[in-house]
Amino acid sequence: MIVDMKKDSTQEELNEVIQRAESLGLNVQLNLGTDKTVVAILGTNTGQLPTDIFAVLPGVEGVSRIMKPYKLASREFKAEDTLVSVNGIEIGGKRIVIMAGPCAVENEGQLMKAIEVVKKSGASIMRGGAFKPRTSPFSFQGLGKAGLELLAQARERFNMPVVTEVVDPHDVSLVSKYADILQVGARNMQNYSLLTKVGKSKRPVVLKRGLSSTVKEWLTAADYLLAEGDSRVILCERGIRTFEDSIRFSIDISSIPVVKKFSHLPLIVDPSHAAGHYSLVPAIAKAAVAAGADGLLIEVHPNPKEALVDGIQSLTPSDFDRLMKELREIAKSVGRYI
Ligand code: PEP
Ligand code: MN
Repeated sequence: MIVDMKKDSTQEELNEVIQRAESLGLNVQLNLGTDKTVVAILGTNTGQLPTDIFAVLPGVEGVSRIMKPYKLASREFKAEDTLVSVNGIEIGGKRIVIMAGPCAVENEGQLMKAIEVVKKSGASIMRGGAFKPRTSPFSFQGLGKAGLELLAQARERFNMPVVTEVVDPHDVSLVSKYADILQVGARNMQNYSLLTKVGKSKRPVVLKRGLSSTVKEWLTAADYLLAEGDSRVILCERGIRTFEDSIRFSIDISSIPVVKKFSHLPLIVDPSHAAGHYSLVPAIAKAAVAAGADGLLIEVHPNPKEALVDGIQSLTPSDFDRLMKELREIAKSVGRYI
């Protein structure tokens, strides 16, 4: 249930709404907009409660029900776009934010070289996996804590925020010590205990779309993060499973305007995991920017032939540099910049 407060409502009137919700055993989340305050009333039985319970209170403009399964991620709760700020870099504004780096942290030389080149070409956030969710238990699983330490060194050296994945709820506090943005991978989008733990860490989060998840399921998963009280959630489209087998995952470009229509959260696109091949990455990246993505997450390796993970879809430094130049033109044509 959504309670819209009147523009001139007072703090006492807002408190009364909150108290009434709490007395009914319900939770509240506030959207303190510049214009007016919106209160989301959350609980398992709100559907059975008459809206008049809140509509009669002073200072209340109106009460409505959100019919969608996701509430906090919805535009009904927050009409204006959310800007996620990470060390002064805003995601969701006019600037298109490029996050780039290797799939996995492999060793010091590889990571430093990768981040040096992506920074030089204009990326503003570095990526690199220390904990890797691999399809096979026999594949390289990442360097773990040693990988996080290397990320911290690169962060210091290149003065760039780090986005890195957390796979296990038990590692959330460890990864939070090193990461500026926690990534929840596609395979974990519906791992609810992980989402809750990540939400409690009060860190910005990149939430990838599940391999076979609808936009509705994805936004509802985002509610698990938002329910813990931090609004800094960045959605990431990374392709979905379809009948098409000429590409690793079908990129769902249409999810960009769909998410923008129904949610206030910023949205980035990962062309690398969709493409599965370096030759397909640039076209997908450009299409995403043209369609309104707020950023990109791109795999770049100094020497893809030697990569331990995802070498075939990683861009070389020169391919990445060329793509960045092309992306600047596309960004300009849609009234944005990189
Ligand atoms: C990744 O970004 O390193 C990754 C594993 O991606 P996804 O979860 O989208 O497969
Ligand atoms: Mn990868």
